[in-house]
Amino acid sequence: IPTSYIANCRLCLGTEFGNRCTTIIDESLITMMKQVFPIVIVNQIGLPMNVCTECVKTVEAFYMFSSQKRKMKSEVNNLTHCQLPKIVG
Ligand SMILES: [Zn+2]
Repeated sequence: IPTSYIANCRLCLGTEFGNRCTTIIDESLITMMKQVFPIVIVNQIGLPMNVCTECVKTVEAFYMFSSQKRKMKSEVNNLTHCQLPKIVG
């Protein structure tokens, strides 16, 4: 990865950071990303650590969706179990 990417957004590689941009070491962003993404994005030397406003908003949106999903998880599980035999058979 070229070092010029260091000035880009870590998530979308964009250069428009907007007024709510942050970094991947921001604690609230880390908390949200841990719930949203299966892999944890860590700060790595040579990689950008900036996150643009649009990506912050995206992570927030996914986080909110994920929180709602968690509440409904048992219902969704029941639904999946009921439908599974039909799909397999
Ligand atoms: Zn971005």
